Amino acid sequence: MKTAAFFALLATSVWSATAAPSPAELANRKAGLRLIKTSPKDAGKWVSEEDKIVKYKAKDIGFVDITDITDNEVLRILSTPDGEDSFSTQAVTYPTAVSHQTQVNSLLTSVSTTNPTSWLTTLTNFYNRYYKSTYGTQAGTWLYNTVVSVASANPAITVTKFTHSAFNQPSIIAKIPGNSTNLVIVSAHYDSTGGSATARGPGADDNGSGVVVILEALRVLANSKFKGKNTLEFHFYAGEEGGLLGSAAVFANYKSTGKTVLAVVNQDMAGYSPSGKISIYTDYVDTSLTAYTRVVATAYTGATTSDKCGYGCSDHASARSNGFPAAYVCDEPVSSSTPYIHSPNDALSTIMWPTVLRHAKFTLAFLVEASYL
Ligand SMILES: [Zn+2]
Repeated sequence: MKTAAFFALLATSVWSATAAPSPAELANRKAGLRLIKTSPKDAGKWVSEEDKIVKYKAKDIGFVDITDITDNEVLRILSTPDGEDSFSTQAVTYPTAVSHQTQVNSLLTSVSTTNPTSWLTTLTNFYNRYYKSTYGTQAGTWLYNTVVSVASANPAITVTKFTHSAFNQPSIIAKIPGNSTNLVIVSAHYDSTGGSATARGPGADDNGSGVVVILEALRVLANSKFKGKNTLEFHFYAGEEGGLLGSAAVFANYKSTGKTVLAVVNQDMAGYSPSGKISIYTDYVDTSLTAYTRVVATAYTGATTSDKCGYGCSDHASARSNGFPAAYVCDEPVSSSTPYIHSPNDALSTIMWPTVLRHAKFTLAFLVEASYL
């Protein structure tokens, strides 16, 4: 009796700590199915890789693929409605005004759309950049080589591939060392989908545009041999369209290795803006960092707009669920954003280049300002 009670107690605590997989779960995993959540309250459902894209992504249903997430605190945050959070991010006090205008304005004169036009042409010429396709892997090789080439202007910059066990497309990380190892991160996913695993998916606005704006900021900072107080990182994620896969693995690694992250500013769509204003989203983000992001965007690009984009919207959710302060910057509120998302029509010809230029300038300004946090 006493022994039985002891084992029952032990079983309960083991279960809550590690949630041993049930026979049904093991069978689903063996069949290659993936466990996705479409809302905080959704316990998760097992779907095929193809259904993730066709039945969810192509229908604008946001989701997070939690199949490989083993951190119970991350899962708890992913199961808590926005605004009801009770978790602590690393505490950072952000300024209420910009303070490095002379340096930023000098660097901004070097930002242009010349290189972004060339890069985005190449990115959209891949048949698609689906994270499980050979095209997606080839796009990763091209992007890695391009980041290395851009970074080579400053030998202090390192570029690494962050590989993923479940698919061949790597995430890519460039780092400009600062005087401190504290990190300021700008991010964009580079995979794409045209609405199915085999569809043409040029992914011009979503998210070739985000890729080229952070790459342009890297180019200008590399050429100027910029070194700040904080270390700056440029993250190019794999597998976002599959449920935030690349960013989930990167930030799980950063959490487990105890990295200090002062800010993550994610950009997913930066090339289509009828309003001509940067849009800063307000759900599933860090409120303080979002306010600071708006201060910087307003100071260097003018008035901004706001919106919310829901659960599993983009890679900032991975940073946030791992306890890091994250913000999300987009090119437009949802209602007037590109109508071509996740289709073969998200083409280079639909890109508004003044929008790309605006986001590249914002990215550079944010990195320089936040390098002094
Ligand atoms: Zn996207």
